[in-house]
Amino acid sequence: MSSADDRGNVNGRAGRRNGGTTVKEFIQKVQSCQPSLNDSLEGEIQAFLFKEDLLHTYDDLTKVNPVTPTTVLKCLQARYNVRVFYTHAGCTLVALNPFQPIPDLYSLDVMKEYHCAPQPQEFKPHIFIVAEEAYRNVQSQLAPVNQSLVVSGESGAGKTWTSRCLMKYYATVAASSSLVKSQDTVERIERRVLDSNPIMEAFGNACTLRNNNSSRFGKYIQLQLDRFQLLVGASVQTYLLEKTRVACQPANERNFHIFYQMMKGATEEQRKEWKMPHEQHFMWLPNAEKTIEEDCFHETLKAMIHLGINTERQRQIFQVLAGILQLGNVNFSSLTDESKPCDLEEQSKDFLQRAAELLCVPADELHTCLRVMTLKAGKQSVLKPCTQAECSMRRDCLAKVIYAQLFEWLVTLINNSICADSSTWCNFIGVLDVYGFECFQVNNLEQLCINYANEKLQQHFVAHYLRAQQDEYVSEGLQWSFVKYQDNQSCLDLIEGSPISVFSLLNEESRLNRASDAKTLRVRLEKELSDNANISWDKFSKVPHFTVAHYAGKVSYQIQGMVEKNKDPVPPELISLLQKSNNSLLHQLFTDKETEIPTTKGLSKVTVVSKFKNSLERLMMILHSTTPHYTRCIKPNPDCQPLTFKKEEVIMQLEACGIVETIHISAAGFPIRIPFRSFMQRYGLILKDPRFKSASHCADLEAGGNMLRQEVEKLLRMVLQHHVLNSRCHINEKHNSWA
Ligand code: ATP
Ligand code: MG
Repeated sequence: MSSADDRGNVNGRAGRRNGGTTVKEFIQKVQSCQPSLNDSLEGEIQAFLFKEDLLHTYDDLTKVNPVTPTTVLKCLQARYNVRVFYTHAGCTLVALNPFQPIPDLYSLDVMKEYHCAPQPQEFKPHIFIVAEEAYRNVQSQLAPVNQSLVVSGESGAGKTWTSRCLMKYYATVAASSSLVKSQDTVERIERRVLDSNPIMEAFGNACTLRNNNSSRFGKYIQLQLDRFQLLVGASVQTYLLEKTRVACQPANERNFHIFYQMMKGATEEQRKEWKMPHEQHFMWLPNAEKTIEEDCFHETLKAMIHLGINTERQRQIFQVLAGILQLGNVNFSSLTDESKPCDLEEQSKDFLQRAAELLCVPADELHTCLRVMTLKAGKQSVLKPCTQAECSMRRDCLAKVIYAQLFEWLVTLINNSICADSSTWCNFIGVLDVYGFECFQVNNLEQLCINYANEKLQQHFVAHYLRAQQDEYVSEGLQWSFVKYQDNQSCLDLIEGSPISVFSLLNEESRLNRASDAKTLRVRLEKELSDNANISWDKFSKVPHFTVAHYAGKVSYQIQGMVEKNKDPVPPELISLLQKSNNSLLHQLFTDKETEIPTTKGLSKVTVVSKFKNSLERLMMILHSTTPHYTRCIKPNPDCQPLTFKKEEVIMQLEACGIVETIHISAAGFPIRIPFRSFMQRYGLILKDPRFKSASHCADLEAGGNMLRQEVEKLLRMVLQHHVLNSRCHINEKHNSWA
């Protein structure tokens, strides 16, 4: 394999090569001998040359003929086999995960090559084409100027990797000379923006069965550009951190990376300070013996310093994290009299003491908070001893609330450190890296939220590319046969619609503050949503659940525990306790938190789904106001192995993202659309008309769309007449004629 191929044939031209001749060159040769050859013969020649051994040369899946899941799959596999990982699918880019480092593919030189090329889209498919296109769109000043790069795919497909790659690209090609001073360092802004990644990944990623570095939160980062197109800052928005992982790790998975980084990277002195002797086993640190690339404490510390988190602040952060680990070893005895609070297991007393010391709260108060709840009946407060299960729940809740607050605080701190002053930036390129569609054996509220987010993104994609493109062809009066696409509005209505939907019923149940009963919710769902075709029930199943037909497939959600998860209650006594902490960071995290004891009547608390729905709506508004670019990451095998392409896995992912529909539309339609004005600015000279003498003349032209359109048509007719053979391919391929 040549090095050029390894890097995706950067300098190769698009086309189907056969012994050094592309199909087009071949056709042109034949046509120059026999000018009467027409398009149908061209089609026949193409078909004749459509051989499996050439499939790897198809840079764009729209060139595959016929477009079926099988042919698309074959083409991707053929390319994967020759280590070509990127392929266009009309308006989207398909990125296959190589699961091995390919340094030449992303080197500085390659970045420069794409950035400096007059027409990067003529290079081999690459994530840098998408990056560069978005960057040039900002320059073009055509609305919407702001851009969004939406990276999707299932867990382990390469979303975060791709997002990092995009950020590095902009940090390189749009590097500014801005320097930012923090307490300990003076840093370039690009360095800081990139340094936000190791911190967020240390605190928000974990090793799961699907991915050693799985993001357990969604992220939208806006890269801020000044009027010279230079990167002057960034801001990050995060979504739905999987905080349950702190206190409960699924079998064979791990807790968040940061805990292992501490365990493995701490100095002897730090171990002492954090009460973490080598031999100590922590319940909340399963699979600590597994070493992964991401266990690099040193890198996290370095990034923290770059972002202005000084050593004192770091000490406070790690003390809190060490306190959480101690809490995980606190267990409650089952042998208690019901009228008395459940007590600690003997060996847990030391752990509780250490947890209290590390969290800087009084040990006796921590002890009481975990074992006794305060209820309010009218004006009176009543103390109620907790059962063993309730005590464990309170312990877990304490850990989760601390971790979630700490994560949120870190994100705010990162934003404060990298966000440019609003007067210095004018446009942005947003990179969205969110969890892909999930379907496990047992699915709960988390999966419902994640799959709901994916439905929203799919709808955005459908609306933007598929529907908008078809509508545009109709309004342009172009001959067009409609492609059927799956509209997922009815599924979204089912999940979030008003007045009755899964979310509305779930919220009602959550606000009633009665003992949560899975059966009640199930009965209500069944009764009130029975006429929606997207929901079904298995009448014979013992475990109450409902099944939603998502655009990407059916998923069954377990109802048990859903209401409780949606309420996400935090006992106010725990908040009051944390507010007393002598650790100034911990104290600060909870300063403004409510500590009111809930009454036995109603709760008006914001629920998990309502909060998530709101944040997602804000995100969708931003996405709708930008020009989107979609990259679909595909995981070629479930074991994260290089050089392994499992057809069944890939086809499921292709179906889940509706790639075949996208190709159909793009293949039948016009993948490149240039507004009339830009077209005339670029090519108007050919008309030899004084009005189009130069680009600046064109820019002065009045907005009159019709006039410009006529001129574009005139120009294209002229080109066609004078350069039939040479230009036909060009025009057929690019269809520059319509905006
Ligand atoms: P999750 O949803 O679980 O967060 P993800 O889609 O973000 O998954 P990544 O973490 O980006 O997946 O990728 C998984 C792993 O695949 C990476 O850690 C890296 O080892 C490898 N990988 C992904 N893309 C590439 C690439 N282009 N080149 C080399 N390795 C890659
Ligand atoms: Mg990820």
